[in-house]
Amino acid sequence: MKSPVPQYLENLLDEVRDNTDGAVADYIPNLAEADPDPLAIALCTVSGRIYAAGDADRLFTMQSITKPFIFGLALQEHGEKVLDVVGLEPSGESFNELSLDRSTHRPMNPMINAGAIAVNQLINGTESSVEDRVAVIHDFLGRLAGRRLSVDGDLADNELAGADRNLALAHMLRSHGVINDDARDAVDSYIRQCAAEVSVRDLAVMAATLANGGVQPQTGERVLDAGVARLTLAVMSSAGMYDGAGRWMARVGIPAKSGVSGGLLGSLPGQLGIGTFSPRLDSEGNSVRGRLLYERLSDSMGLHLMNPAEVGVHAVRSILVHGEDTVLTLQGVINFSAAESILHEIARHDFTEGRLVLDVTRVVTVESIGRRFLSSVLAKMRSAGLDIALHDPEDRLRELTVDGDRPESLDAEELAEVESEPPENDGEW
Ligand code: GLN
Repeated sequence: MKSPVPQYLENLLDEVRDNTDGAVADYIPNLAEADPDPLAIALCTVSGRIYAAGDADRLFTMQSITKPFIFGLALQEHGEKVLDVVGLEPSGESFNELSLDRSTHRPMNPMINAGAIAVNQLINGTESSVEDRVAVIHDFLGRLAGRRLSVDGDLADNELAGADRNLALAHMLRSHGVINDDARDAVDSYIRQCAAEVSVRDLAVMAATLANGGVQPQTGERVLDAGVARLTLAVMSSAGMYDGAGRWMARVGIPAKSGVSGGLLGSLPGQLGIGTFSPRLDSEGNSVRGRLLYERLSDSMGLHLMNPAEVGVHAVRSILVHGEDTVLTLQGVINFSAAESILHEIARHDFTEGRLVLDVTRVVTVESIGRRFLSSVLAKMRSAGLDIALHDPEDRLRELTVDGDRPESLDAEELAEVESEPPENDGEW
């Protein structure tokens, strides 16, 4: 059965497609010439399932989206010593601000350029050549994405030729002994880190790795320790969106990191990774349509981190076959992750005849996305010849209709009668 998720994502893209606010970054020549129009989104669940829409295979450079991951890699290599060279406080300043903590002379956090240059210098040991360090970095980013990433060397060369601002940052860091390498080498190494190329699918998988406690959900490889993944997400949530970080957390509530080429990565712990791409940026350097997509996703999927909702991945409590009837018992909060896992179970079980009884008495709340996905999948099942019935005494699925009408409803007695016939299976399919 076809999942309704891709169509939902297509609709989201359509809602923002005509917005041409903002402008492509112009301080890196290759970005100034970039096509401003591509638009794409991808989601990856912590079970490794990917959904995508729009220009989802289009490659773009990661830029600042590398920062949280390389911070994670530095923590893997050096543990808490990383915090000797970089702080954990939001800076509230723009990404390339020439500022350091006044008393410690460390950059405020690893998400601003000063912090990212300092962290880059730790990778593969402070004595590493630029070449070896960059190779380690790109290899690591490839393990996160589950494939070897290409690198836009031409863009990196051009960026380095005009990198006065980043060079100023590197000189400042050197003058305070935060880095030891030659300033030009430090910036070269950092800029090459930023030039790794990804699609939104890659971003979604990389973000899902953070959401999944450091285990890449497709390859199964533990790429980061759980504590490192958590710390990385924490820093993203307070500083990932630069001087817009506070408003972002209030409005969207998904730890995120933006890049100047238009990518935007978001990671919701225990649930999913998100990647969007749209090159026009706002004055804070964050993708305009990317931001809108996240706002809509957060609202309609109920993804705000501060929602008191339980994580919904175990929404299917059991699937039991009693004669002609299959009873699907749902539980918890039916948010996006829950609806996605329900759809996945239903698709796996290829129901074609008899009656599907949905028992929702254990459901706590249903987000609008849950209702929407459920009704679309139930409609498809009905048109495939299946009868649908609901046991919903407290009307949790309010307004849920299948093809415009309310499905047959079973009361407790009727459900008990269905369940009085011993199940043919043990609930595990
Ligand atoms: N390479 C870019 C720079 O250092 C990355 C900045 C960004 O994506 N915000 O300026």
